[in-house]
Amino acid sequence: MIFETLSVFPEVFGPYLDASIMGRARRAGVFEFHAHDLRDWTHDRHRTVDDAPFGGGQGMLMKPAPIFEAVDDLSRRGPAPHVVFFSPCGRRFDQGVAMELSRRERVLLVCGRYEGMDERAYALADDVVSLGDFVLTGGELAALAVIDATVRLLPGALGDEMSAVDESFSFDGLLEYAQYTRPASYRGMDVPEVLLSGDHARVDAWRRQSAIERTALWRPDLIESARLTPEERTRALEVMARGKGGSDA
Ligand code: SAH
Repeated sequence: MIFETLSVFPEVFGPYLDASIMGRARRAGVFEFHAHDLRDWTHDRHRTVDDAPFGGGQGMLMKPAPIFEAVDDLSRRGPAPHVVFFSPCGRRFDQGVAMELSRRERVLLVCGRYEGMDERAYALADDVVSLGDFVLTGGELAALAVIDATVRLLPGALGDEMSAVDESFSFDGLLEYAQYTRPASYRGMDVPEVLLSGDHARVDAWRRQSAIERTALWRPDLIESARLTPEERTRALEVMARGKGGSDA
């Protein structure tokens, strides 16, 4: 899979994408990454990418021409990219969007800066994505979040092939179950006995309960669409009614 970014700060991606799991996946060829500098598609001495908004108002907007020329040019090099723009107006990024993107061959992430972009530039977008209801100074962090969440779904990205399967927001729509490591007792807090039992069937049952209870407690909005048996749904509704005060998840 090929990820490319188009932005005025192409240098910010390398340090993150060369580290840890992303770095290993990139070196192993799980994904390719190229950061393009939007200023390479300007024609003036100052390599200008922004201009004042028509109608007045504060700040600067990204001009349409460099973005159109860059996307046209990059689209002609190789397979047609899926073009994603970032904006607080876009559809909210989540694990489902990451899964959709992980099936694409080539994704071009177009990052805004300043007060955003000339509205006409969005005509180039196949998709407009937001990280959430807050305003960043630029799309680069959004691009890194999208690349990270998508790459870790690709085969071979994580050491253990299974580890992306039973995580939060996976196929059953629940948060992940509670996990513990050594020591079994710490500051008076004990790891649930069943996890020390070596009985895999009991461990699996406990984990399922834990995932349901944690989801009901922390993200009750996810329960409606989660894949639950009628008994599990009853249990979830009990936990939701009791609320955080009675937590044992
Ligand atoms: N004036 C715009 C915000 C521009 S912020 C508004 O009020 O909607 C500058 C750039 O940062 C945007 O073009 C976008 O690329 C990026 N950005 C800001 N907030 C974002 C968010 N929540 N999700 C994804 N990208 C965001």
